[in-house]
Amino acid sequence: MTLPFDPDWSPATLGVRAGEPRAANREHSAAIQLTSSYTFDSAAQAARVFSGDEAGCVYSRFTNATVQAFEQRLAAMEGGERCVATASGMSAILTLCLALLKTGDHILTSRGLFGSTIQVFDNWLSRYGISVSYVDMTDLADWEAGFRDNTRLVFVETPSNPLVELVDIAGLASLCRARDVPLAVDNCFLTPVLQRPLELGADFIIHSATKYIDGQGRCLGGAIIGDEARVGKDVFAFMRNCGPCLSPFNAWVFLKGLETLKVRMEAHNRHAQAVAEWLQAQSGVERVYFPGLESHPQFALAREQQRGPGGIVSFDVRGGREAAWKLIDGTRLCSITANLGDARTTITHPASTTHGRISPQARAAAGIGEGLVRLSVGLEDPDDLIADLAQALHG
Ligand SMILES: *Cc1c(COP(=O)(O)O)cnc(C)c1O
Repeated sequence: MTLPFDPDWSPATLGVRAGEPRAANREHSAAIQLTSSYTFDSAAQAARVFSGDEAGCVYSRFTNATVQAFEQRLAAMEGGERCVATASGMSAILTLCLALLKTGDHILTSRGLFGSTIQVFDNWLSRYGISVSYVDMTDLADWEAGFRDNTRLVFVETPSNPLVELVDIAGLASLCRARDVPLAVDNCFLTPVLQRPLELGADFIIHSATKYIDGQGRCLGGAIIGDEARVGKDVFAFMRNCGPCLSPFNAWVFLKGLETLKVRMEAHNRHAQAVAEWLQAQSGVERVYFPGLESHPQFALAREQQRGPGGIVSFDVRGGREAAWKLIDGTRLCSITANLGDARTTITHPASTTHGRISPQARAAAGIGEGLVRLSVGLEDPDDLIADLAQALHG
């Protein structure tokens, strides 16, 4: 069981206090229920729990108490009725699509997506007759023109990876509502601490818990949040039978991550702002992409729909790939890895890694140049980070 909580508490309080599990010994810190199944007092009780007449856990593919505590806590933080946790962020996206869509349906989205999300849409869902089309992510008129009679899902990621472009969530949500098409928002970059898409009219939230929710680069996991009817029934039924479920151990790590999410996100905001402002003043840097800079074309929208700019800063280095690789190799405080949302600052060259498999033309069209570098600014002292970037850039 979990302790009662007030859904009107702020996300920070909910992150510490919503879905607090308590087992028979009344332990204070959540215990991990590393069990594949649950027992019953009698055959009659087993029948009642299996049929849903009595609440209770059955089998950890779809009901595990530690996973449920994480689901309850994250749903509360996002202001959603239900959450279904998944094995990874990608399995959250696949689960949502397979639970909702069928052959002949169409997904409307934009190119500003995590690379594997584009692969799922283009290479897998297409095999089952689900089509997808891509519009300009920042232009609501383009979204409006993209709807078809068979559009059954609109999917967005905001801010996008790696150029941190934004979608006007409330504007897009009203276009969707007028056509009765659900809107899903991948909220991985900001988390409920900095952006709550359901309040802006979205129907579903997707998370890769692997990133900021874990916060220390340890476990893979994901989540789908939404209403009782669709997430509680359709998505849950898919999970129950198809099984892309989160492990209890990873759920326990994420429960702990949610307790510190607000203070971590505020530090990520602050550190990223300092690094972005410094980068913007360097002659070796051509352009900085960061929603907390007034030079960001959607600075005003970021102020409106986000409670902070987030921790991702991308920038174009003068001198193309050679200069970008030299900078990356010259840092000592940044880890060269594609993960993000970690306490440790990570540095990536998107054109040769995360976006290396798409054609140079498609890359150029997406604005991902050879000199582009993506930083996920961590929790180190920003002065140390800036000194490190300075020696790598100028040294
Ligand atoms: C990492 C990521 C995913 C995929 O999550 P995994 O946990 O790696 O499967 C999806 N969306 C965004 C925005 C991501 O950054």
